[in-house]
Amino acid sequence: MGNRPLILVVEDDAAVRNLMAVTLDTQGYRYRLAANGAEALIEASTHQPDVMLLDLGLPDMEGVDIIKKARTWTAMPIIVISARSEDADKVEALDAGADDYLTKPFSVDELLARLRVALRRLNAEGASGQSAIYENGSLSIDYAAGCACLHGEEIHLTPIEYRLLCLLAKNTGKVLTHNYILKEIWGSYTASDVGSLRVFMATLRKKLQSGDAAQPYIQTHIGIGYRMLRQDRPMEDAP
Ligand code: CA
Repeated sequence: MGNRPLILVVEDDAAVRNLMAVTLDTQGYRYRLAANGAEALIEASTHQPDVMLLDLGLPDMEGVDIIKKARTWTAMPIIVISARSEDADKVEALDAGADDYLTKPFSVDELLARLRVALRRLNAEGASGQSAIYENGSLSIDYAAGCACLHGEEIHLTPIEYRLLCLLAKNTGKVLTHNYILKEIWGSYTASDVGSLRVFMATLRKKLQSGDAAQPYIQTHIGIGYRMLRQDRPMEDAP
């Protein structure tokens, strides 16, 4: 059973930690537990979990510092769990390299859904490697040709829209902050640029609108950023 995903739970609240352990166990995941930042880093380095669930408010260390340390040697998905409602904490964690976030109180179903997204990203990366073609539902990107298609028809994108799409596609399942996107696409960041980014994303999302998709390709996280969602296979390919 060594191929069952190993999840590291970092949480100082024993009740929440135990609830998560029981939940993961009943869902067939393996897990390790850490009650503080120091334990988290030891567990992460010695057991190399597939995903880390990280409470931001820990007694000994800032969650953001744990992410920064972990990111020097691992690309494993990190899902931040925060009791703090301030978006700034989540943004800081995402900018430090976290993949996703959950706000307490959260439902067990929500936790499991986010975990599946993180694991899918991990599997997609492992399977496709440095693939020249990106496929997601009815959307495909031919990186070599520099074009994107929806239902096999080329989408007419401006150069910036295309670069935005590629950036989101290469990070499918991961929440990208405004700050990160602006730095990657324009090389700089000022607060006023977030307004222009919003406009670019609105037109890009419109061009990606697809009748068969139950949910949009690009998910907006208000005050935080955007995420490319993995779509199921297109309807026309279903048996
Ligand atoms: Ca805590």
